[in-house]
Amino acid sequence: MADEPTENISGGADGGVDAEFEAGEASTRAEAVVDVLGDLYWQKAYGGRDAFECLVRTVLSQNTSDVASQPAHDALMDRYGGGDLARTLADADRSELADVIRPAGLYNQKSRVITEVAAEIVDVFGGASAFDEFVTEGDADEVRTRLLEFRGVGPKTADCVLLFSGGRGGVFPVDTHVHRVARRLGLAPPDADHETVRERLEEAVPPEKCGFGHTATIQFGREYCTARKPACLDGPEACPLYDRCDRVGVDELDGSVVDPASTTEDASS
Ligand code: SF4
Repeated sequence: MADEPTENISGGADGGVDAEFEAGEASTRAEAVVDVLGDLYWQKAYGGRDAFECLVRTVLSQNTSDVASQPAHDALMDRYGGGDLARTLADADRSELADVIRPAGLYNQKSRVITEVAAEIVDVFGGASAFDEFVTEGDADEVRTRLLEFRGVGPKTADCVLLFSGGRGGVFPVDTHVHRVARRLGLAPPDADHETVRERLEEAVPPEKCGFGHTATIQFGREYCTARKPACLDGPEACPLYDRCDRVGVDELDGSVVDPASTTEDASS
């Protein structure tokens, strides 16, 4: 296991839930994969972030990279932070907010989602802190269902709020990296959609390892199993998961890479 970092990477300022992580006898292939990732990327804690800020951050990150969404988040917090963020954003001028979050892309759409969600949270919960309490302490299924009722909030956003704010075990959010890597590895069917991949991973990975598995798989997808050039194209020794991977959609002989889903289309045509 890699040394634990001193900095709390994934949790909020007040810490969060310790990511209890014991690599050992894995009972499923997916757990074994997460254990290997544990040797590559160790993070200290999950949860503890303010739920509404976490929701805003995840909306800003939709369809873009962290490099683009982080400045937008920082600019938003500079301009609107300091009080009850939900109340402030519920009253914010939508076009001014769009301008502030411009670096995140799709800024008009994201501005609309953020102001509408903020207004609904004020309406239903009274403000950001009551919403945070609901996310942190409510029944996980109820919280997820409620989050999905917000217009513009999809499964990945809801699961990220449950994980990074609520510190909930058993939540394995699926973004584009997790979706690709899990299907290439053969941990989910090649044509599985995001929800199916999430269900497969949450069934196969112990609850206390799901949060870590999510962030580590994203990191692994960025550094090793990239969309266009997975590391194994440089040889088996280039990927630490080579022995556990089906390499669906990856042809090591001719160096071609296709989305795993197209391998099922090929098979049926
Ligand atoms: S062996 Fe290739 S396809 Fe499999 S995880 Fe590694 S880089 Fe990705």
